[in-house]
Amino acid sequence: MNENVIILRYGELYLKGNNRSYFENLLIKNIKRALNSFVFSIKKISGRYVIYGFDTMLFNAIIGKLKKVFGLVSVSPAFEIKTNIEEIKNRCKTYAKCLEGTFRVTTKRADKKFPIKSDEFSAIIGEVILNENENLKVDLYNAKTNITIEIRENGCTYILTKNIQCCGGMPVGSAGNGLLMLSGGIDSPVAGYMMAKRGLKLYAIHFHSFPYTSVQAKDKVVKLKSILEEYAGDIKLIVVPFTKIQEAIHINCYEEYMITIMRRMMLRISEKIAQKFHCTTIITGESLGQVASQTVESITVTNNVVDQLPVLRPLIGFDKVEIMKIADEIGTYETSILPYEDCCTVFLPKNPVIKPNVKKAVTEEEKFNYEYLIEEAINNIDIIE
Ligand code: ATP
Ligand code: MG
Repeated sequence: MNENVIILRYGELYLKGNNRSYFENLLIKNIKRALNSFVFSIKKISGRYVIYGFDTMLFNAIIGKLKKVFGLVSVSPAFEIKTNIEEIKNRCKTYAKCLEGTFRVTTKRADKKFPIKSDEFSAIIGEVILNENENLKVDLYNAKTNITIEIRENGCTYILTKNIQCCGGMPVGSAGNGLLMLSGGIDSPVAGYMMAKRGLKLYAIHFHSFPYTSVQAKDKVVKLKSILEEYAGDIKLIVVPFTKIQEAIHINCYEEYMITIMRRMMLRISEKIAQKFHCTTIITGESLGQVASQTVESITVTNNVVDQLPVLRPLIGFDKVEIMKIADEIGTYETSILPYEDCCTVFLPKNPVIKPNVKKAVTEEEKFNYEYLIEEAINNIDIIE
């Protein structure tokens, strides 16, 4: 008791009825994983978690990690004391000395055994603070410092002044596994972030066309994976050698259809890899109309080769600037804009078809034995843990 703690609040898990303990256990597991480099303890109080027993010098570092745990809505540094009127007053007196400007006290009395009503108690504490530091002023509407006193059923009172927003979402893993098609661009890391936020544990697949694409291009993807891991936990990256398939497309297929066919090959391989790693969905960073391969017609023709799994495209309705803003917020932007060659850009046709059709794509694909090449590529994947 009498220690610095951090209160953690979670949101949507409340909706989960009987499954709630499953979600909660997953959330606890993810919190522990995010904080695995710190010494700390965690306990549950009605509808919240409390972290305690950590080195207070590391407050900010711990909160920085917690802000990236999906499922948490907000966190607050707080002071935990035994519920006792005199102790609360004393604590607030000490606190009053380091306050300046205006303040307001709000009491939340969850423990109805506490003898004084919330508003009344706020007024009493306000008075105590004013007596201690006469430079202060009460402002109920626009106070510089909002002091919240939470009197909980567990016999503890929490005094806090800050509510730090976290990412929200669902605990990673609660929605199963998803395979993220991860390029080195801006969009796909954001797409992965968004689906991990909805509870998917991520696997990533990257198509690499060495020597047309460089080792640096691959390293960049590894770096993006590690940034995503700060939110999503460990991500297995599957690197697929794509050179032979691209060369075959280049040699055999009608130029305008090269990108369409390349994307169909990527999706065919992705579906097989997804199943191999027990992923029940594929995620891409496509956004409607962004490039020729992302028109409704193009998406129809590429999507046509996937028949077992849904392909999730969380950015489909986003503008590029909106995507860039998220990339910046989550920390992938700086890495994504480093120069690199994607396998899509290596054999770029001058005029890629904007409204392809399935029949023509199939005719072009029949010009080479792609099934053999797909099998060979899958047999030569590289797995980066
Ligand atoms: P990004 O910024 O994510 O690269 P983009 O706007 O450049 O997207 P495309 O190059 O058309 O768009 O790719 C569309 C989607 O296909 C990407 O968001 C990604 O999910 C996937 N993709 C593209 N290239 C690769 C690659 N080399 N390896 C894995 N997935 C890829
Ligand atoms: Mg790209």
